[in-house]
Amino acid sequence: MASLVDRYLSHITTACTADRSGAVADYIPELAQVDPEGYGLSLCMHDGQIYSRGDSTVEFTIQSISKPLSYAMALNRLGYVRVDEKIGVEPSGEAFNEISVDDRMRPKNPMINAGAIQTVSLLLPPVRDVSAQTVGHVFDELVTFYSACAGRRLALDSAVYGSEASTGSRNRAIAYMLDSFGVMDTDPEAALDLYYRQCSLRVTTDDLAVIGATLANGGANPRTGRQVIAQEVAQRVLSVMTTCGMYDGAGDWVTSVGLPAKSGVGGGILATLPGQLGIGIYSPRLDRHGNSVRGIDTCRHLSTDLGLHMFNLNRESRVTIRSIYDIGAFEVGEEWSGRERGYLSTCRDQVKVYELQGDLTFSGAESALRRIEADMDDYVVAIVDLSRIDVIDPVARTMMLSVKHTLDERGQLAMVVDPDGVLRASVERHREDQVVPDLVAPETLRGFDPTLPHVHSSMADAVIDAEAFQLERRAG
Ligand code: GLU
Repeated sequence: MASLVDRYLSHITTACTADRSGAVADYIPELAQVDPEGYGLSLCMHDGQIYSRGDSTVEFTIQSISKPLSYAMALNRLGYVRVDEKIGVEPSGEAFNEISVDDRMRPKNPMINAGAIQTVSLLLPPVRDVSAQTVGHVFDELVTFYSACAGRRLALDSAVYGSEASTGSRNRAIAYMLDSFGVMDTDPEAALDLYYRQCSLRVTTDDLAVIGATLANGGANPRTGRQVIAQEVAQRVLSVMTTCGMYDGAGDWVTSVGLPAKSGVGGGILATLPGQLGIGIYSPRLDRHGNSVRGIDTCRHLSTDLGLHMFNLNRESRVTIRSIYDIGAFEVGEEWSGRERGYLSTCRDQVKVYELQGDLTFSGAESALRRIEADMDDYVVAIVDLSRIDVIDPVARTMMLSVKHTLDERGQLAMVVDPDGVLRASVERHREDQVVPDLVAPETLRGFDPTLPHVHSSMADAVIDAEAFQLERRAG
């Protein structure tokens, strides 16, 4: 059975597919030939779980999404001081291929081409004549680094590389301008060659989602467990992606979507929600800024529907499950009656309790739901204990309510222990939201499933209810 998250992702990809506006990049033949209908979406959660939809295994060239990765590699190797001497961190407000430099002649930031070419120049030896062999060697190191971020060995698209190298007059002009300003310490041809190669690496949306989750996790790849980017470097890269990542529309992007992101003319977008998840999207038709049209639309949906804006402040979303135990292991208080105690001794292995904590948002609810669903064969009754939850956002509420539906279908029982009425308050707030129906699209995860599970104000009440359910089940 598809999980609620899978169903939601199918819903938004179906909704966004309809938009066929924009055009594929055509500055080189290889990009002009791609299937314009291609569309893939992947989400990688902080624990490495991946959800994929559509063309998530189709490979396309990473293009400008390489920029934050090479910047991370340069910072990892050389540290802030040396990198900051050569590249600024200010949004340029100009097109990505402008020669934007500041008063120290540094490219304004590493997300524009001037900054990206300068970034790779820092990976090369500071000599005027760099051999092809040396560029090849540095490129191998770069591929190893990118691959560690993606958790899979990435490969070069040699046709795209060949075309990029033979048509790149503008980038050549940028590299030689930087050289003439005296800020490039290596051979400009070698820097260009390395830059064209990095842009021509092939990735899938699953790769981008894992790279995004690696950045979200402070540089530790959640699939491999390896710390591939230093934590301070991940923080810096996310900051620069936030202010300079989406070409020239940064302000609008931060206010409306609120996810550090980078797009590329190959049709990819990588977005990341710090501490929580990474997103990879592919759809090659681009808008006039060079961003994937469906990619932008998909990000807007994800951010709004799932409450993923980075300033949707919440706590502890990564440690939502405080503990899981069989009810037989519950520590019984003085106030428990003989009947409750008697039942507890017989129901071992049939009732599982999921104690949640913190503020419940999409990521936390996703991991709780995944766990409750994975265990479904191991219990008859699931008790979700919300006693330690202070706030539950609309998305998390719908997700928690869906547990009832899922278990009902299997003849099992879902129950909630909610002494402070957090769930009920959230449902009531939702009813008020309905006054402005446009705010809540019913088909999204914010949509309302009106059936509340059995809600109890204490674990003892839940236990009596579980007993009644099991007696009825046995009788029936
Ligand atoms: N290879 C392309 C260039 O440097 C990448 C552009 C992009 O993705 O923005 O022009």
